[in-house]
Amino acid sequence: MATGKLTIDLDALTTNWRSLAGMSAGETGAVVKANGYGLGIERVARALARAGAGRFFVAVAEEGADLRHALGPGPEINVMSGHMPGDTDMIADLALTPMINSFPQLLRHVEALPGAPFGIQLDTGMNRLGMEPGEWAAVREIAVAQNPTLIMSHLACADEPNHDMNQQQLRQFIEMTEGLSIPRSLAATGGILLGKDYHFDLTRPGVGLFGGRPFDLASAVVSLDLPVIQVRDLEPGETVGYGNSWTASTPTRVATVSGGYADGIHRILSNTGQFHFGDTPCPILGRVSMDLIGVDVTHLDEDPAELTLIGEHQGVDDIADMAGTIGYEILTSLGARYNRRYIGG
Ligand SMILES: *Cc1c(COP(=O)(O)O)cnc(C)c1O
Repeated sequence: MATGKLTIDLDALTTNWRSLAGMSAGETGAVVKANGYGLGIERVARALARAGAGRFFVAVAEEGADLRHALGPGPEINVMSGHMPGDTDMIADLALTPMINSFPQLLRHVEALPGAPFGIQLDTGMNRLGMEPGEWAAVREIAVAQNPTLIMSHLACADEPNHDMNQQQLRQFIEMTEGLSIPRSLAATGGILLGKDYHFDLTRPGVGLFGGRPFDLASAVVSLDLPVIQVRDLEPGETVGYGNSWTASTPTRVATVSGGYADGIHRILSNTGQFHFGDTPCPILGRVSMDLIGVDVTHLDEDPAELTLIGEHQGVDDIADMAGTIGYEILTSLGARYNRRYIGG
């Protein structure tokens, strides 16, 4: 078998949820958009539900439908894109709760599904989703009369604790929700770490559950091992891979591992990233191909059967740093070809 082995530790996942829940002032939900940050929404959400999560967030109604099938009735499933054209049947049949982002969405929802639950999303400065102060002031009374289940907003800079934007958005959120007795939610992972002022009634961690920054105390959830298909010796002057971008200056032993940019191993790691064999780093040689990568194993005492890209010595955020991106993007790029193994849970 030449497929990489992606191991997802559901015990680490639920440990992370419990840690974040322990820090949160009120209830703690779970954000499982984008197929549970690439790790498989069904297994991830079921493990979180067993750990005690009762409220889930997804980006779009279709994800909510998959999640409802995984979880069955009971847990609340909030859809952050709100109520879009074409969503009505899914929202009704699968008991989804749209987070309404605008007056047109509010009208669509109450006209199509009178009495059906919904929440409100407010924009407190990120300029991405939700009603802005002016629109909210105009519709607040009408919206509140329909008994929304939740009012939420999202922080733009929560991973930078000293950023002025945090307090600015906090003040704006308080001002826009003053005097209402509807549960409120402002904090994702970063917001939880900012402290209790930001927690309100419900927190919504995502990336921290999956072991990512800025939750530095997280347990690692993901590991990725790729099988070595072939090992060969190069003479000085020989090259590796497309474009001859790496040339041996000394005798070199090169392992060809099964995995490439089609599996979410970013091409920018060509000639810069590294794998590990046990504790020993093994540099990537040449370009990352679609399905294959050359790795330097000259310094090892034995030919490895597999090499580790994500593991004890190198986490998701380390790969992100090497690739010039963030852990979120590494997680959600994890390929569909991997043999996914779930442990614990
Ligand atoms: C993605 C997202 C979250 C979760 O954010 P993390 O940084 O992954 O914890 C929470 N709320 C909203 C609105 C989001 O888009």
